[in-house]
Amino acid sequence: MSGTTLHGIGVGRLGVVGPLRQLRPPVAVPVDTPLLVDGLPATPRAAHVAVDRAFTRIADQLVEQARRVTGTLAEMLAATAQIAADPALRAQVLARVDAGEPPVAAIDAAVSTFAARFEQAGGQVAERVTDLRSVRDRVVAAMLGMPAPGVPDLTEACVVVARDLAPADTAALDLSQVLAIVTELGGPTAHTAIIARQLGIPCLVQVTGATTLPDGAVVAVDALVGAVTVDPDDALRAELEARAEALRSLAVDAEPGTTADGQAVVLLANIGTLVDAERVAASAAEGVGLFRTEMLFNDRAVPPSHAEQTETYAWVLRAMGGRRVVVRTLDAGADTPLAFVTGEHEENPALGVRGYRLVRTHPELLATQLEAVADAQRATGTTPWVMAPMIATPQEARGFAEAARAVGIEKVGVMVEVPAAALRAEQILAEVDFVSLGTNDLSQYAMATDRMRGELADLLSPWQPAVLDMVAAAAQAGLRTGKPVGVCGESAADPLMALVLVGLGVTSLSTAPTALPAVRFAIRRHTKARCVEIADAVLAAGSHEEARARAVALADPEVCAKLNL
Ligand code: PEP
Ligand code: MG
Repeated sequence: MSGTTLHGIGVGRLGVVGPLRQLRPPVAVPVDTPLLVDGLPATPRAAHVAVDRAFTRIADQLVEQARRVTGTLAEMLAATAQIAADPALRAQVLARVDAGEPPVAAIDAAVSTFAARFEQAGGQVAERVTDLRSVRDRVVAAMLGMPAPGVPDLTEACVVVARDLAPADTAALDLSQVLAIVTELGGPTAHTAIIARQLGIPCLVQVTGATTLPDGAVVAVDALVGAVTVDPDDALRAELEARAEALRSLAVDAEPGTTADGQAVVLLANIGTLVDAERVAASAAEGVGLFRTEMLFNDRAVPPSHAEQTETYAWVLRAMGGRRVVVRTLDAGADTPLAFVTGEHEENPALGVRGYRLVRTHPELLATQLEAVADAQRATGTTPWVMAPMIATPQEARGFAEAARAVGIEKVGVMVEVPAAALRAEQILAEVDFVSLGTNDLSQYAMATDRMRGELADLLSPWQPAVLDMVAAAAQAGLRTGKPVGVCGESAADPLMALVLVGLGVTSLSTAPTALPAVRFAIRRHTKARCVEIADAVLAAGSHEEARARAVALADPEVCAKLNL
């Protein structure tokens, strides 16, 4: 395997080297799988002892894991540990084993009985069914001597490899120990990739064969090139280190964003957690251009209270010390489902009740959130900008603006991430103070391509001429109305695309804080006129490859060389 290189789609510009850890999906163990002792099926007595030990081991492991982390992850692990230690569950399993039932069948049957009871109880208790099943999978694996399923307990910094990672799986990882993430599935603008970029963790998606790479092998993950290499040689290690050093050297520039001829381009950062906010507050970002508030609502049985939300928003506003903060109201649905809103199964959740549309089914969620932001505004004496996701019509924009202004929010905007909104941006801007382009969803909807399906990444490229036409339409509407048009999708993290966006008339760019130095550097080295020239050339291209090639041809060669564009 040494020297083997697998390719995929990279997210970020960095490369790292580290040991690989495979994240294993739970194995479906047939219930009649025998427990063997010395090659023979275990007696009920021996099975009793083995099952009892497996439960104890898993409960202890979970307590230990919970002790080593903090926050929601610690709470989740502690709650799962309680289930593993539950005497009633264990007694039921052991009674079945004593009666001669095969141990896997006994565990499965007892867990199913408890799961049915939990489901019947409904509400918060029903949500524990996932934990219950995770305990079952862990205990079965421990008893049979199989590798532990699910999220590994990371004891050293490593490269995590998985077939796929839902945002919830990613949240369950101890990300301080994750050097890089590599998945076989997933898309470059899906939320797992976004979390990785947010933290400056190189990420590769669509790496066919990644799950066959050996656990423990040392690999180099290069997000810029989109490659993972087993046992990298010294030359590759040196190249990755030199690139990291070059990017670090750009980060010393803490000036506000401007073009070479002094035209301001406000450079903002995206955040999703309070830790992100702390990091951005300490950075040169001119503020927060997208505060994804979903994190407050994830892993909850009931929504956070008005008081809790007010406190969180006020904390972020204070941390940013008067710099701009754009709060996005809850964007639940699609790949970020929530227990208390995602009701019956939707055939096409990305096209269903998500984002602002939740006002139709759960109006109280938006009302509480807006009141909380307004109270945070009053408590801090700052002026947060507040925007709604997934707006499709001017009427929706008006509905949101009225609701926000009614509670005292002064700066109201919406995201433009639905093609209908991009095409009608001028009418939408008539209702609000600003818009922010969500190019991740705009690409997905313009190109009718699921952003979670990375194998269609060419269609999802923000360089697609049709997507750029929509961005241009929205930017033009901003120029005509004199209102700010920002971009907060992942495309703003690409320094080359940033030049195009500036040329189109976009007034602010918001991206992961780690991507800002390269964007700042690129913009600073080009005049506004050159950006317009690049944008014009790109808009006249016939394909996404040609669009990008035209931008490279017109951009400053030194910048391209320094940033590997
Ligand atoms: C977008 O769609 O571009 C965006 C910024 O929002 P999210 O990625 O959270 O859907
Ligand atoms: Mg979006």
